[in-house]
Amino acid sequence: MSESTKAPETGPADQDRNQGQDQVDVLVVGAGVTGIYQLYRAREAGFSARLLEAGTGVGGTWYWNRYPEARFDSESYTYGYLFSKELWEEWEWSERFAGQPEIERYFNYVVDRFDLRRDMRFGAKVTSVVWDEPSGMWTVRAEDGSVHRARVVVAATGILSVPFIPDIPGRADFRGEQHHTGRWPKTPVDFAGKRVAQIGTGSSGVQIVPAIADEVAQLTVYQKVADWLTPLNNAPITPEEQAELKKNFDSIRETLHTSPSGFLHQITMRSGLEDTPEQRQEFYETRWNGPGFTKLSEHYYDMTTNPVVNQEWCEFIAEKIRGIVKDPATAEKLIPKGHGYGGRRPPFGTRYYETYNKPNVTLVDINETPIVRITETGIETSEGVEEYDIIIWATGYDFGTGALNRLGVRGRQGLPLEESWADGPHTYLGVAAAGFPNFFFPGGPHGATGNNPRYSGDQVDYVTDVLVHAREHGHDVIEVTKAADDEWTALVNDNSGQISFLKSSYFYGANIPGKAVKQLLNPAGRWKLQELINESVAGGFPAFSFAKTTEGTTAAETAEAAEPADA
Ligand code: NAP
Repeated sequence: MSESTKAPETGPADQDRNQGQDQVDVLVVGAGVTGIYQLYRAREAGFSARLLEAGTGVGGTWYWNRYPEARFDSESYTYGYLFSKELWEEWEWSERFAGQPEIERYFNYVVDRFDLRRDMRFGAKVTSVVWDEPSGMWTVRAEDGSVHRARVVVAATGILSVPFIPDIPGRADFRGEQHHTGRWPKTPVDFAGKRVAQIGTGSSGVQIVPAIADEVAQLTVYQKVADWLTPLNNAPITPEEQAELKKNFDSIRETLHTSPSGFLHQITMRSGLEDTPEQRQEFYETRWNGPGFTKLSEHYYDMTTNPVVNQEWCEFIAEKIRGIVKDPATAEKLIPKGHGYGGRRPPFGTRYYETYNKPNVTLVDINETPIVRITETGIETSEGVEEYDIIIWATGYDFGTGALNRLGVRGRQGLPLEESWADGPHTYLGVAAAGFPNFFFPGGPHGATGNNPRYSGDQVDYVTDVLVHAREHGHDVIEVTKAADDEWTALVNDNSGQISFLKSSYFYGANIPGKAVKQLLNPAGRWKLQELINESVAGGFPAFSFAKTTEGTTAAETAEAAEPADA
């Protein structure tokens, strides 16, 4: 299994400077979309801060997922940051749904534009985060041997950052190349003339299939579950659209701030059954031709809840598949069975179904033809061995809690976070957990309700507000109460029926053998999260207990003395 190169992109001098002061107010883990923003907010609020990142560059998910055709399926400008009008005006996305290289360039631009790189340390995968009771500080260790002391740790480690590879016998025996989509090598993989197997057909896998089909000698796609894929309908952003976007920053930001899903899309305030069958077919056609998530977020408001409408929309997609895919048996395999639209996270693709018309592309349904083992030269199924040069694992992630549970977090009385969450995560507003003082995880489990940066941005703002409040009142130990943690966790679990995703999906951790099947999203919705955040800020953060350590000087005092210009 290949790994991206470990060589840091920053020079030794930068690394030394980053390490120079071993104690900071706020230590951020992860240089993805949430961590970058948290570092920016912490610094802007006058805290000394450092960010540790396992990779050698910024971008998080968009750093690791550099597989062919990796791209947004949220509109580029609704995914990017909204905290700076200047940034919005300076950066022009070239496409409605930007590709990974452009996304990675964007994050690098942001980091340099706001001079954040000097507080980042790369190649520093965090291995332990241990609370020290007497000093009220965290000790954080990283794989590069560095040790850091911090008053507050913000784990911005992401929800889709720990790749999952199924335990198929013989994987280590394979002599060709193997790559997981979420750990794609920086050196481009040479597919020319190669025999390639791809295992998994979720949002990542469906992007790769058409991207490499022309280049490879042979591509065999192993599918466990067919999903209701519809066209992404990507397009360049025209100069006129760029001008409109720039002109309308304030209103776009306001709409995104108040949108339940973090998109600009507006749900159709009509039941499907209010339209005639002919009108519905026309409506489905416009959805099919619409961009990305509008299939979900601009649909009839009852598309996921009304079985008649849901089945009709699914049948509409099934007919499209039958019309595109020439081989009827392959078309039938590509039509999902057992779940309606919205039962699983729908993928969006470009020429995905069309690619199966190519003579060198084959689809294997592993429910009919199970994989028995990986051999030295290929994959053995119930029908025999196929030889390959490359295996692509597009088999998903340990969603929501995967990274946090592997961070080595030890809270009060040495309590391991992963033990505390053995039966599923316990959180307050998806940002904090009782027993883990001064530890926050915006963008983690129990927060997500749509377009990732929008709700995780709300959470970063909230965490920063809590920290500022504590500083203003002379407190340095902040801990959410068990009652508040219990209340939000119960709300999340009790509201599971509010969203369409099935318990068998990765949103409940069901894809990971042995993992507790528990709600990992925030089905109470972004509006509920915002309402409770606003109430909490207005009420002086009643869900938290605040205290002052007696031992030693506080990190804030240390930073003030050392770096007055930054404060
Ligand atoms: P995924 O949606 O979890 O898809 C992985 C697929 O592999 C699933 O269908 C899974 O089936 C299947 N699988 C697991 N074990 C298998 C096996 N032994 N043989 C064959 N198939 C197997 O993962 P993903 O495609 O990486 O996407 C994850 C998430 O990342 C997406 O849902 C999306 O939120 C995000 N994403 C976003 C973008 C974008 O913005 N453009 C692009 C890519 C990904 P089970 O589900 O039954 O286990």
